[in-house]
Amino acid sequence: MNYSKFISAVSARRKPSGISDLQLLLTTPSPSMVWLASGIPNPKQFPFKKVSITLQDDRLLTLTPDMLCSALQYGPTPGYTPLLKQLKAMTKLHHSPPKWEECDILVTAGCQQGLSIAFEMLLNPGDIVVVEDPCYSDVLCMLSAMSPQYLAIQVDEQGMKPDLLRAELTKAVKEEASGIPKVMYLVPNGSNPTGTTMSLERRQALYDIASDFDLIILEDDPYYYFHYEQEHQDPLPSFLSMDTDGRVLRFDSFSKIVSPGLRVGYVTGPSPLLERINVHLQANIICAPMLSQVLMSELLRDWGEDGFQKHIANLRQFYRDQRNNMVQAAQTHLTGLCEWTVPKGGIFLWLKVPNLQDTGPMLMKGAIKREIILVPGKEFIVDCSKPCQYMRAAFSCATSDQLMKGMESLAKLIREELTV
Ligand code: PMP
Repeated sequence: MNYSKFISAVSARRKPSGISDLQLLLTTPSPSMVWLASGIPNPKQFPFKKVSITLQDDRLLTLTPDMLCSALQYGPTPGYTPLLKQLKAMTKLHHSPPKWEECDILVTAGCQQGLSIAFEMLLNPGDIVVVEDPCYSDVLCMLSAMSPQYLAIQVDEQGMKPDLLRAELTKAVKEEASGIPKVMYLVPNGSNPTGTTMSLERRQALYDIASDFDLIILEDDPYYYFHYEQEHQDPLPSFLSMDTDGRVLRFDSFSKIVSPGLRVGYVTGPSPLLERINVHLQANIICAPMLSQVLMSELLRDWGEDGFQKHIANLRQFYRDQRNNMVQAAQTHLTGLCEWTVPKGGIFLWLKVPNLQDTGPMLMKGAIKREIILVPGKEFIVDCSKPCQYMRAAFSCATSDQLMKGMESLAKLIREELTV
């Protein structure tokens, strides 16, 4: 693929950091090398002697002196070398991308940072970006600063509607004057806010359209492992796993499966695009938090693939139970007041109040009066000037009692609002 046409003017102007490139030499230093190149602090002056962390099963993970040294120092921009190796092995195993030889991986501070950089790399002001409507609100926030035009495509319970997308793209190509989209942002599993998991047919149809209209796909997939229907099966194939063209940038995250405070995510995709993202990262953060990367790498080493899969299976069971508790609470208290589709993945229930124009004002009142907080659907709608009948409820943290109490309070609130 020719990637140059996708690169924004801002990205094309970004200059690689010569110093960061030199830093790569530190990964294999010769004992006689005298290093006077970069302004790194002297590790002997760091006020830390030992880092060890106790796992939930009471086992101790202790960093060796070499690891501690790496963890406390600046590191290579692409990521901590042992972690990168592990991520490459995991990606190959879990996604087996058809163009694996032409792919690369970069570690980012959460996948949000990777997304933000990718949009900056790909979009000039006025460029058209294809998004799901509704869409992850933080992505709408990052995009709004870049002044794109949106091609917002409705979703149903299987994901973005391909027939609408094809029709809109065909129209855009005909009316070339107003621009042709070049980027499509998708959350394939447990979408935030709708909880939708795209069916396999949808994924294939959307990939085919991206191929026909030459779109780069940004696959944002922090809920990849959170699927609740096929109990003992792998998640549905990712866009990366079907990428025969080299048009997918995939964003993974350890936030939901390990911990968001570590701020470790990674982006996988065609090397020419990742080389550019690397240039942005050099200037933006130098490297993702090294202590987190070293801990993540040690945790993955300690688990091995079997331990990782066991952890994922436990998580899946926990969040499946949470989902079931939420749906039961909604059935008990909201039947007749709200509509919803049972989410097959993720941590969100997307509730519609068909008899209410806009959930926003009611939820503002409800927070104080009934002590129940949900996010108004408006936050996720591309055209935020429109009222929205939906609201987003997260079921990740509340106990089953709290979920019941919360849905009961919500039901009272809706009844009050409807009788005003
Ligand atoms: N994408 C989506 C769809 C999310 O829901 C989130 C977390 N709210 C992110 C990205 C950000 O993830 P991270 O913590 O890895 O930056």
